[in-house]
Amino acid sequence: MQHKQVNGSLEFPPRNAVANMNASSSLQQRKIFGHLSIVVGNMLQIAGIAAACVALALARFVQPRTAAFAAAMLIVAWLFLYFFCHGIAHWAVGRLLGIRFAFYTIGGTGNPEGYPSGMRWVFEHLPLFGVQTDRASMQKASPKAKAFMWSAGVTSSAVVPTISTVWGWRAGIAGSKLFLIFAMFWAIGTLSSNWRSQTGDYAKARRALHR
Ligand SMILES: [Zn+2]
Repeated sequence: MQHKQVNGSLEFPPRNAVANMNASSSLQQRKIFGHLSIVVGNMLQIAGIAAACVALALARFVQPRTAAFAAAMLIVAWLFLYFFCHGIAHWAVGRLLGIRFAFYTIGGTGNPEGYPSGMRWVFEHLPLFGVQTDRASMQKASPKAKAFMWSAGVTSSAVVPTISTVWGWRAGIAGSKLFLIFAMFWAIGTLSSNWRSQTGDYAKARRALHR
């Protein structure tokens, strides 16, 4: 999804962006709106994931509950997981494999070409979490470690929100079957568009392996 190229440059906007685009194909730069420290970013993401769990619990256990309330809570949980699991998945897998991070980036998708034109604008402007890797630790990391770390982001974006809809369906929440079908298609779309992208997480994982 959403990262600057891992070229070790921490400046934004990168002074050499134009040169890079001319030199190495035309990889689009992700639109970055801001940075967060790793600590603040982790707290926000953990809070978001916890809020998703609360929404799921409300959908399941609040009595009496209307079908509309339960369905709304399922959608809230799915959205929260979609926004808050991606960056922290990069971080958690990276840290397990010895990669450190400088900060989180907040910005649009790193894979805009993966979306149809109407949605592309929206996804370029959503506040999605990305990570800026620490250059020295990336130089020491094995290609496989880097590939796992990059893959973790988009994989979690596809899998984690979908798990919440499976849970909703298993819990017998009204309308959850339809939402599960939507979520499955969304997940497959996310994975396949990222897989074909030149700039998404899987492309970075492939570059790490073939470098
Ligand atoms: Zn990512």
